[in-house]
Amino acid sequence: MGTLLMRLAIIGLLCGLGFNLSRLFSRGLSRFFTPPVCRFISGALAVLLSAGLIVAASWFYVYYGFGYQGDIFRKAKTDRKIVALTFDDGPSPLYTPRILDILAEKGVPAAFFMVGAHVDKYPEIAARIAAEGHELGSHTYDHVNVPTLATAQLSAQLLKTNIAVLNATGEYPMYIRPPRGLYDGRFRRLSELLGHQIVLWSLSAQDWMELMTVDRIVKRILTRVRPGDIILFHDSGALLRKEGASRESTVAALPMIIEGLRAMGYEIVPLAELLTLAHPEEEPIPYMPE
Ligand SMILES: [Zn+2]
Repeated sequence: MGTLLMRLAIIGLLCGLGFNLSRLFSRGLSRFFTPPVCRFISGALAVLLSAGLIVAASWFYVYYGFGYQGDIFRKAKTDRKIVALTFDDGPSPLYTPRILDILAEKGVPAAFFMVGAHVDKYPEIAARIAAEGHELGSHTYDHVNVPTLATAQLSAQLLKTNIAVLNATGEYPMYIRPPRGLYDGRFRRLSELLGHQIVLWSLSAQDWMELMTVDRIVKRILTRVRPGDIILFHDSGALLRKEGASRESTVAALPMIIEGLRAMGYEIVPLAELLTLAHPEEEPIPYMPE
């Protein structure tokens, strides 16, 4: 209840800010337009600005969170030059086997956050991921937007994925990552009940954008990487559908990224190893008067 009130207060504050900013701007407009046109423009501006501020605040919440979230891992807190590689949205018959070949050739571990429906469609690729020693995570059954689902649907999405992964690989997915990083309180409680660790990321290759070229992906990772990063790639997916986008850039960039990271002194470790250093934030220290 407290958090709901806080969220409503934040949204109210942002709407107020958007409204006032638009009024400030529309004062300048009165020189050029009649009053009804001015009212329309400033109304539209208020809505757009408020919506923009709310989207920006939600984006911040999704990627950084507010307050203590001891169950959510985004990166490891370490000065050691280690990182973990993660792949979302697969398995894909077009790209996952080629990514697995590269990882095997370079001797690099990774974690795969798989879409349950794709595991059911390509169980032999999921089996190969597990057989080659990579770690497994759930990415829901249909790549859904978690906060929009009814609780029964959300539970079904997680349970169906676990059954698909178990059937295909004989292993239980230890990790879970909500599609697009969008989670809520139910998702956190359910993940804990099902024994998953929630893992987000701290550095995205942004390879889901069709416009990302190989060079841009390589440059983005190598210029931004920091010790303890959890790096996000995609081995399947599409902007609006579950699969179908080209991941040629990801496949081509991967060997260069691995070599580049090593040249910078980075070691690529299994996610489990990274997470032992990761306790995301210090335990909150309760205020205790002397
Ligand atoms: Zn995804």
